Amino acid sequence: MIPRFKPYIGQGEFVASLFPQREAVAKFEMEFAKAFESRSAIAFPYGRSALWAFFNAVGIRNAEIVIPAYTCSVVAHAVVLSGNIPRFVDVAPSDYNMDLGLLEKAITERTQAIVPTHLFGYPLDADRLHEIVRRAESRYGQKIWVIQDCAHSFGARWNGKLVCAEGDAAVFGLNISKMITSIFGGMLTTNNLHLANLIRTWRDLHFKKPSRLKSYRRRIYLLAVYAAFHERFYGGVNWLEQKTQILDPLTKAYHLDGRIHFPPGFDEHMTALEASVGLIQLTKYAEIIRRRRKAASYYNEQLRKL
Ligand SMILES: *Cc1c(COP(=O)(O)O)cnc(C)c1O
Repeated sequence: MIPRFKPYIGQGEFVASLFPQREAVAKFEMEFAKAFESRSAIAFPYGRSALWAFFNAVGIRNAEIVIPAYTCSVVAHAVVLSGNIPRFVDVAPSDYNMDLGLLEKAITERTQAIVPTHLFGYPLDADRLHEIVRRAESRYGQKIWVIQDCAHSFGARWNGKLVCAEGDAAVFGLNISKMITSIFGGMLTTNNLHLANLIRTWRDLHFKKPSRLKSYRRRIYLLAVYAAFHERFYGGVNWLEQKTQILDPLTKAYHLDGRIHFPPGFDEHMTALEASVGLIQLTKYAEIIRRRRKAASYYNEQLRKL
């Protein structure tokens, strides 16, 4: 049985979760910014919380926000829960990303932001996106914010440039299914220090301190995840997931596609424990990418034979 994803976690992450560093969240933000060549990074409990906070902090409300029709449902949820209207653009069959040929027509005088997703590691054409946005801005005489959704494409580049740097901000997801993990968690990066300050201040004013219980829960979750994805147990775990409802609170509840909803704790700060795990994962980023590329080329080779 081959899991759809498998977090690359080991002893270091467990030690980090038992002995979280002091000021771990601030350190994680700094190291994350450095790793993805950004001037500033701001940590959140989920990627969706980062998007939600962005719209609120910037004051985008009752506006249309353009997103791809094929993306994680939490993107649309963040748009709606911040008081805005998602405007879906169909995706292109070549890379499953927003079809830029359809984007121009989707922008109206009500559009205040675009959230292009770079799905499965495929970068969207950042240059063409800029051109379309620039034209729309001058046509409607207003700012259109571009928030790159890099949840699947942390270090992806278009024409040699990181896509996460091509816009006003970028958001990243850090749950256990992402490229690197801080157990749960999300990150927002930006090169605009004024914007960074605005979002950080808004976050610190509106986000709650996480409870001690949350850290215990996260630690147990990390252990459970490690066991669940172990080769010896994964077959059984998969059976439980397919045949019973025992795991639903851990799997299905994470994002409900049928209901516009954020999980409890979406407005609580990232814990120091999670940030400490994230710091370890960040040092393994290059190795994780190497392993993923190796696995991908193996699949490509084997599937070609069929
Ligand atoms: C995971 C993901 C996010 C952020 O998800 P959270 O679960 O809120 O951290 C955003 N966009 C895409 C495409 C994702 O896959």
